[in-house]
Amino acid sequence: NGKVVIIGAGGVGNVVVQKCAQQSSVFKDILLASRTKSKCDAIAESVKQKTGVTIRTAQVDADNVPELAALLKEEKPFLVINVALPYQDLTIMDACLEAGVHYMDTANYEPLDTAKFEYKWQWAYQEKFQKAGLTALLGSGFDPGATNVFTNYLAKHHFDEIEYLDIIDVNGGDHGYPFATNFNPEINIREVSAECRHWENGEFVTTPPMSKKASFTCPDGVGTYNIYRMYHEELESLSKHFPTLKRAQFWMSFGDNYLKHLEVLENVGMTGIEPVEFEGQKIVPIQFLAKLLPDPSTLGPRTKGKTCIGTVVQGKKDGKDKIMYCYQICDHEACYAEVASQAISYTTGVPAMIGAKMMMEGKWLEPGVFNIEQFDPDPFMDDMNEFGLPWKVTELNDFNLDQ
Ligand code: NDP
Repeated sequence: NGKVVIIGAGGVGNVVVQKCAQQSSVFKDILLASRTKSKCDAIAESVKQKTGVTIRTAQVDADNVPELAALLKEEKPFLVINVALPYQDLTIMDACLEAGVHYMDTANYEPLDTAKFEYKWQWAYQEKFQKAGLTALLGSGFDPGATNVFTNYLAKHHFDEIEYLDIIDVNGGDHGYPFATNFNPEINIREVSAECRHWENGEFVTTPPMSKKASFTCPDGVGTYNIYRMYHEELESLSKHFPTLKRAQFWMSFGDNYLKHLEVLENVGMTGIEPVEFEGQKIVPIQFLAKLLPDPSTLGPRTKGKTCIGTVVQGKKDGKDKIMYCYQICDHEACYAEVASQAISYTTGVPAMIGAKMMMEGKWLEPGVFNIEQFDPDPFMDDMNEFGLPWKVTELNDFNLDQ
């Protein structure tokens, strides 16, 4: 029916709404619902100015299943695009089941009290979605999201068997603040301060956070950056769906200034997720810290530089070793000019729109819970080229991040 409900009016929500509005032949009716309605209204106004499309808005608490299910039953959308926080994934999935609506998100469920990053809670919904004849598409952002699709695309078109995977996420952008996070500070800090896990020889190997560092030179003049190995949720689904992988690692670039601030904040306890008692009130340190930091959605006008996110896959083709790199480069200022956002939200929001489009067009629609690499990568890759995230594939002569 061309009707979609988007939940979450943050940095990513803004981009998804803008990009869906640009594709009004697919997304014919868009409702943006979030906890704070004024944020939805501000996005709707900006979309109206940029595209002329009218977005309806609503207030909803996505932690409250009956409230959300009632909204969905009244709206009867084809699909819910969840770009609220990972804490809301399960309640939104429950409400979708109750209202008979397809589901999509960009980040796996996390319980508030433990930074876990595991798919087990959402994978447990497999039977429920199958029985209901509904699709849940998990992780349709950039990483997870485009990086999973890149891996699947390389495996499909360039290899007989893939053996080594390195996902490399470089943000060469500069926002001019001494310390700020590019997306929700609480989620971002939980992620980077978690222990590192990578896949090796059939199991996850744990190492201390940020304990493995390498240098990576991005293609096309983006520059050379320090990257650090860390855990990222797509490693779990990719190692499951590509059982020939002998090793899978995720790397992200961090500037010295970011790491210095993070170290101090950790040392003084400001990144803690356990509540502490303060003057008769319970305060979660990381939530208080998030309050003090710049709102990621305000970084757009001040961020300059480029992101370069891609996957290096090593494996065998016709009995020979081969190394392929698939990557996407995005310019912060160009994103801001198009949708009033920096590149981190842009690179998440565009794949979210495309994943939703795949479902709306019936290309990726099967009863059950699916990670994005389980569907045919080709139509998604075509749409990335068309809708603002052009990518390239190149063969590498050698690749070695161990140093
Ligand atoms: P923001 O914090 O900017 O926005 C989150 C939005 O969700 C806010 O509008 C917030 O409301 C709303 N929200 C929070 N709780 C509720 C609730 N209970 N009910 C209704 N709405 C709620 O986050 P981002 O836009 O940066 O990120 C959005 C999602 O995208 C996150 O899950 C993040 O992990 C994911 N992400 C994925 C990436 C990828 O590549 N896969 C990369 C970056 C982000 P309020 O305005 O009231 O606070």
